[in-house]
Amino acid sequence: MSLRLHNFSGNMRPHLPASMLASGAHHEGDGHALHQPVLVLNASYEPINVCAARRAIVLVLKGVAMTEEENGHFLHAARVAVRVPSVIRLLEYRRIPHQSRALSRKNILLRDRNTCQYCSTTLPSGELTLDHVIPRSRGGLSTWENLVACCHPCNRRKGNQLPHEANMKPAREPRSFNLHTSRHIMRLMGHSDDKWRKYLFY
Ligand SMILES: [Zn+2]
Repeated sequence: MSLRLHNFSGNMRPHLPASMLASGAHHEGDGHALHQPVLVLNASYEPINVCAARRAIVLVLKGVAMTEEENGHFLHAARVAVRVPSVIRLLEYRRIPHQSRALSRKNILLRDRNTCQYCSTTLPSGELTLDHVIPRSRGGLSTWENLVACCHPCNRRKGNQLPHEANMKPAREPRSFNLHTSRHIMRLMGHSDDKWRKYLFY
């Protein structure tokens, strides 16, 4: 599905020519907006996850979740206009297992808040890679504790060096990302989004 977005408050017209949406200054901001974090609530209103706006919109369009809060942006998917959510709620209750989350690229980027752990630049997921703090060539493993979000320039600069050799240390000690950590992250992110607060501090 092709999704395009423009600022709802900036232009109320529902259908702009595609060339206007795809060109120039709009484009970069649109990509960023689709990566904005959305709080996911269980049917019981318990916060259970954070996902990218693009994923949240797909869940709403598929009828799996409903929008509880909007973020003020408006998005066009084919001929359907959708308000970009800030908080969504699943329509069916899902039991959340008490085990830690799967190790995945997505979850490591989420843990590190899409921020390069060496130069502190925040980027869209597509512009980040995963860095082995201790390189694989030096015996480093692919684990929560040895993988961090990293921009491509920092990844190239560090190469196969150990952190002290490259004088590049991760901004934060990489940790496993369990449900407790994820709640902590959700609270941290909630500080910048008033719409999340009532769901996170109850
Ligand atoms: Zn970097």
